[in-house]
Amino acid sequence: MQFKDIYGQSAIKQRLMKAVMEGRLPHAVLLCGPEGTGKLGLALALAQYLCCEDKREDGPCGCCNSCRMSAKLVHPDQHYVFPIYKEKSEETTTCESFLPQWRSRLLKSPYFSYDQWNEELKSDNKQSIIYASESDEIIRKFNTKPYEADCKVMIIWLPEKMNETCANKLLKVLEEPPEKSYFILVSENPEALLSTIVSRVQRIFVPPIAEEDMREALTHLYGLTGNELADVAHVAKGNLVAAERIVETASDAKEYFDLFVSLMRISYMGDARKMKTWSEDAHALGRKRQLSFLAYAQNMIRENFIYNIHNKEISYMTSDESGFAQKFAPYVNELNIAQFLSELDLAQQHIGQNVQAKIVFFDLAMKVAVLLRKIKM
Ligand SMILES: [Zn+2]
Repeated sequence: MQFKDIYGQSAIKQRLMKAVMEGRLPHAVLLCGPEGTGKLGLALALAQYLCCEDKREDGPCGCCNSCRMSAKLVHPDQHYVFPIYKEKSEETTTCESFLPQWRSRLLKSPYFSYDQWNEELKSDNKQSIIYASESDEIIRKFNTKPYEADCKVMIIWLPEKMNETCANKLLKVLEEPPEKSYFILVSENPEALLSTIVSRVQRIFVPPIAEEDMREALTHLYGLTGNELADVAHVAKGNLVAAERIVETASDAKEYFDLFVSLMRISYMGDARKMKTWSEDAHALGRKRQLSFLAYAQNMIRENFIYNIHNKEISYMTSDESGFAQKFAPYVNELNIAQFLSELDLAQQHIGQNVQAKIVFFDLAMKVAVLLRKIKM
């Protein structure tokens, strides 16, 4: 992975490369920030740069022996620690056994979420973690001499998922880092790390991807253009994982939008017959999409509230959605926002508990009809 493979984030790339060139990169770096910003990709690029035999100012050479191994993620001096899932926690399995999956996931794209990784592991909705047994492996790897490069790099993805014993052992290593070794921690929740670990690393915040860079990424990855490109780039809020989700569910989103608009229209008219038909349409989505629709509706209510209190620039809606908001937003205000959200939440809970969807949605439409009467123009 090279820096040029990561979208945007030019300030951070410059900062990292300069630190390496000037020989002042600290032995432990923590790249932190929200999901989907390219932190893990930046960590891999930094590892390749550190090991490159012919570093340039604008990146690794890309063709030396070291770079060739880095590109395939098989460099013997680059190690990875990441959450895994074991049937029985006493098993001695470590990340080493999961390297083929790890490599193939990263080579597909370094932009993925913890949930997507769990799916990859087929953990069956169980949360993967970094087990205690991993710490001995970390120590062992650092007590051997580098094979190829003149340094060793260990990337720890999501150290916040580390078991406590493992975190304490890592701390010991960070206190007295072996010579020519670099730790790159990549975290989405640095607050969950031991404060003693955080105090031993240089923390670098990786911000959401700038909208302009996001547009470039979306054109490159999905061939998006025009309004669709502008919409996704805006709504994804600098998160490339979220953008992928939006692109993949674009047809769902259109359906949810139409369903949301008709719920509001029908409830506003107070037409019970149409409410019944609407609840049948919502029922037809099937359970999983019913839940997604309700989450979508909550988001729309929130965005319309923000729009209504005249913060149009901080509302995140597509052009269709903000077109609708122009007329609809005044109906979501401080008198009813809390109830709107709690009714939608309750509907979600009921669907989750397998209450008959037609009844849940009809009931919801009736409540929305009442809430829409609470107008403050
Ligand atoms: Zn190279």
